[in-house]
Amino acid sequence: MSVEKVVVVGSGPAGLTAAVYAARAALEPLMFEGFNAGGLIPGGQLMYTTEVENYPGFPDGVTGPVLMKAFRDQAERFGTRYIREDVNEIDLSKRPFTVKSDEHTVETHALIIATGARANWLGIENEQRLAQSGGGVSACAVCDGAMPAYRDQELVVIGGGDSAIEEGSYLTKFASKVHLVHRRDQLRASKAMQERFFKLVDEGKMQPQWNSIVVDVLGDTAITGVQIKDVKSEAVRELPCRGLFLAIGHTPNTELFQGQLELDDKRYLKLTQPGTSYTSIEGVFAAGDVADHVYRQAVTAAGTGCMAAIDAERWLASQGIE
Ligand code: NDP
Repeated sequence: MSVEKVVVVGSGPAGLTAAVYAARAALEPLMFEGFNAGGLIPGGQLMYTTEVENYPGFPDGVTGPVLMKAFRDQAERFGTRYIREDVNEIDLSKRPFTVKSDEHTVETHALIIATGARANWLGIENEQRLAQSGGGVSACAVCDGAMPAYRDQELVVIGGGDSAIEEGSYLTKFASKVHLVHRRDQLRASKAMQERFFKLVDEGKMQPQWNSIVVDVLGDTAITGVQIKDVKSEAVRELPCRGLFLAIGHTPNTELFQGQLELDDKRYLKLTQPGTSYTSIEGVFAAGDVADHVYRQAVTAAGTGCMAAIDAERWLASQGIE
């Protein structure tokens, strides 16, 4: 078996940008695109986004799938090879590293991990249907919130952490009111975020719905409201809204690396040298949301993908592998 110079795992903005840079550095990257990892199709989370309006260079916006196809074509143009399969085993205990999918076993000197993170969803059927059809259900207010359909409408955010407050307060710029549905009556969010939230409540821009969970999402092609249940009284009522934004956390796709690479307390890959893509094993680099629970944007993922490819290229050169 010939040994690859660099294998990239994951085909979102981070992985594909790493592939563009690695390919242009003549490293002939091999990418495992994934097939349905964590419920995600190849291309990562942007494949679930309709209009992307904050990716620089697209003044009129671009859809997630169109953007990801452009990334993929660009990486292919410089020689990236693709395997459209999920990786189901990685062995980092000896060099070269081994990466396995159902149909392929590959050895590689360097590995770029860009497996991303998946937004947590409630798992309600109507939630998934309306999210996938662009019917007003999203797990990213920053990506989808500025759509004309949400202007001057009542919107719902679920969650009580920093993301829920940040996304909710962002939505107040457009919405007539943002309801925060939280399963307890105390926020998990930091003190500063809580202060921001209660100020917006005082201004009538946000409205808490304490001790409440969403039990159903209403609407055929576009959301018309949610059914919420009071967890104390068990009473169920309808809350009309034109948009639903989930902010109940993300799960990094690090299951393959547990016990091999250092993870942080939230199970994201730990970067061992600040300002680089280095992980706890030399020759293994991380890019994108798999190592970032703070920014989580396509453009930051692409930026760290570029860093990972440059780090990999330099590391390979330092090992005498050109
Ligand atoms: P968190 O895990 O902090 O919060 C998730 C929230 O969702 C919690 O309030 C939780 O409720 C609720 N929740 C979880 N599962 C369910 C469910 N099934 N149904 C209903 N509610 C649910 O995630 P965040 O994304 O908010 O934050 C992640 C990390 O990123 C944190 O460290 C945060 O500080 C950081 N961050 C920082 C920001 C900033 O500083 N600007 C902005 C955004 C994130 P409960 O509280 O009951 O557990």
